[in-house]
Amino acid sequence: MTQIILVLPGDGIGKEIIAEAIKVIDALKSDFGLDVEITNGLIGGAAYDAEGHPYPPSTQAQAKVADAILLGAVGGYQYDDLPRDVRPERGLLGIRADLELFSNLRPAILNEELAGASSLKAEVVAGLDIMIVRELTGGIYFGEPRGIRTLDNGEKQGYNTLVYKESEIERIAHSAFKIAMKRDKRLCSVGKSNVLEVMELWDEVVERVGKEYPEVELSHMYVDNAAMQLVKAPKQFDVMVTGNMFGDILSDAAAMLTGSIGMLPSASLDKKGKGMYEPIHGSAPDIEGKNLANPLATIMSVSMMLRYSLNQESLAQKIDSAVETVLKQGLRTADIYVDGVAGTTLVSTSEIGDAVVAALKS
Ligand code: NAD
Repeated sequence: MTQIILVLPGDGIGKEIIAEAIKVIDALKSDFGLDVEITNGLIGGAAYDAEGHPYPPSTQAQAKVADAILLGAVGGYQYDDLPRDVRPERGLLGIRADLELFSNLRPAILNEELAGASSLKAEVVAGLDIMIVRELTGGIYFGEPRGIRTLDNGEKQGYNTLVYKESEIERIAHSAFKIAMKRDKRLCSVGKSNVLEVMELWDEVVERVGKEYPEVELSHMYVDNAAMQLVKAPKQFDVMVTGNMFGDILSDAAAMLTGSIGMLPSASLDKKGKGMYEPIHGSAPDIEGKNLANPLATIMSVSMMLRYSLNQESLAQKIDSAVETVLKQGLRTADIYVDGVAGTTLVSTSEIGDAVVAALKS
């Protein structure tokens, strides 16, 4: 059955990077029998300009019927003075909440060829391939009660609540175990049960869910140690699963191990595996319209979409190896180009997109 991909380019470089991803999808359709239909929609500033809201009802209706969503990026200086509830970023939060995308997948991958771009020693990071699974819709960012109150002595006190229900832990654990099953079958659950009761429950539920995935080797690590291990010996990890705030911090730290924001895809999944796929970077207004942006994070988001929502593992692998081929050929957009490195060529957004398509077809 034909599956529907909703494409939301958004703002800034969104349109340019999405155009390259579409070239890749078109090549998979024409040469490898991928059976998908693309519909186009609006999100972020572009949606606000056209329909007065960053996640308008028209996009909501499209998102509901799509099997997967591919998003570019949102935001731009021209929207900075808008009221908070219609800013472009609200579009992202809106679609995540609307579709109940609770499982955020953030890979940190570093191709051997780009190891020099990391701030860590090449031998520590070359070939890195970690997947961080972050709970996205619960935990301390959403817990109640929250606020700032005045105590009897007149002093102010700020407070937030870290809460997780068993059902919330169960569903993120299932999501993480399923992903581990598609990878190296090792899952590290990151928490802080030595201090926090909620994390004691987290560990207990993850252990329980783990019984359903006997092939996956489960380990537990405190978040402070996990932060240390990520910068000391990151290649020890396969899949990590953690709550919203710990995941927010660890996934950004892991991303920076790779040294390039233009190379990292992400996914946010619902309970059934429907997902939204997007590069982790923003709309980069400073390079908008200049054919400079790196589209590889978006192209690798398509690979994740094929793997995790559309059940097309072999086509996902084709994209991954086409990207690897292009990097081996020495092609680099400005963000990953290091002047003077032998065998490398500086190329534009569209040139590197064309090269990925050529590698796919070769
Ligand atoms: P940014 O990620 O857009 O840019 C940071 C820096 O990285 C810039 O110098 C930019 O040129 C560069 N960069 C980013 N993506 C690149 C790519 N694909 N290729 C080459 N270089 C790239 O972050 P920012 O500048 O802090 O934010 C710009 C706008 O994006 C803001 O409006 C912000 O709110 C929004 N934003 C959106 C998202 C999202 O859509 N998920 C995420 C972060 C920021």
